[in-house]
Amino acid sequence: MKHCSIQGCPGKYARAEINHLVNLAGKPVIIENVPADVCQVCGDTLLDIETVEAIDRLLANPGPPAHTIPAYSMPEKALAA
Ligand SMILES: [Zn+2]
Repeated sequence: MKHCSIQGCPGKYARAEINHLVNLAGKPVIIENVPADVCQVCGDTLLDIETVEAIDRLLANPGPPAHTIPAYSMPEKALAA
C-alpha cells in the first residue's frame, strides 16, 4: 500500500468507494461508488487516471441522475460555539 502523499501524514492509502462531489454547470453533484485510494489517517483521496477520464465522459453527457439526495446547510449556531 502506498504511503500518504500529504507531508507529515503517517497514513497509507486503502481502496474504497467514495461519493465524489463535482460541479456540473456551476452546481454541485455527487457521483456515487467512485473507486479511490483513501488515506486511513487524513482522508486524502486519489483517483486513478482511468477513473478521472470516466467521470469526465459522464459529465460531458450526464443524462438524468440516478436519483436525487437532500442537501443541508451548516446550522449557524454550530459555528458560534
Ligand atoms: Zn494522509
